[in-house]
Amino acid sequence: MHSPEGLAERLRGVGMTSQRTRNRMAERLAKQGIADPRVLETLAREPRHLFLDEALAHRAYEDTSLPIGHGQTLSQPWIVARMTELVLRETPRRVLEIGTGSGYQTLILARLIPELWSVERINALHHRAAARLRLLEVRNVHLRLSDGGHGWQDAAPFDVILLTACAGELPEPLLAQLDEEGVMILPLADAKGAQWLTRVRRRGEAFEVQRLEKVRFVPLLQGVIR
Ligand code: SAH
Repeated sequence: MHSPEGLAERLRGVGMTSQRTRNRMAERLAKQGIADPRVLETLAREPRHLFLDEALAHRAYEDTSLPIGHGQTLSQPWIVARMTELVLRETPRRVLEIGTGSGYQTLILARLIPELWSVERINALHHRAAARLRLLEVRNVHLRLSDGGHGWQDAAPFDVILLTACAGELPEPLLAQLDEEGVMILPLADAKGAQWLTRVRRRGEAFEVQRLEKVRFVPLLQGVIR
């Protein structure tokens, strides 16, 4: 685990090379269909390499998912951009993220929406993400170690709930924590195990489910690992 001091050093070390690499990543994402300029600007600005172990940091801006320990992965830039775009489309004020992981998707969202809640079930990841976000002076995020399957009842309802791990079925407790017009964005597995980025729109007591594109995420799991 990195000390915050180590992170601070790496943050100071962010040089021109990283900025050029980030700009190239944003240009690539635009070519791949990411259209929202706020998303492209934020990904071009924020230091993705700080959300990886030092040994992997040089690969941070490649178009690939990367391991963050404990069998988990930081999603490829395209999927972070795509999900952020889908979230922003709702102009949300309150967003709940399930699966803080490295904290990178959390950071990107925090820069673009007023208030964010994010839960992680693995203690080590939760703490590491918290240290990174503190260092980057992110103040509009509430983090908690818990099983996201239960959502965050005290802070509900949410305009958007985003899952960054793949569910086998629509998580009922989370649907109940959506605002009357709220939206859930999640990877959802079909009967054959294929994963689909899915948007669920609440209309009062009814839910409209819309399948978007095929994706690959780690599974949503139960319980907390301390
Ligand atoms: N958004 C993350 C992606 C991490 S991978 C990032 O940018 O790095 C998905 C994360 O979801 C993992 O860290 C995993 O531990 C977490 N997760 C899986 N099931 C969960 C659950 N029920 N509650 C909370 N977090 C969960």
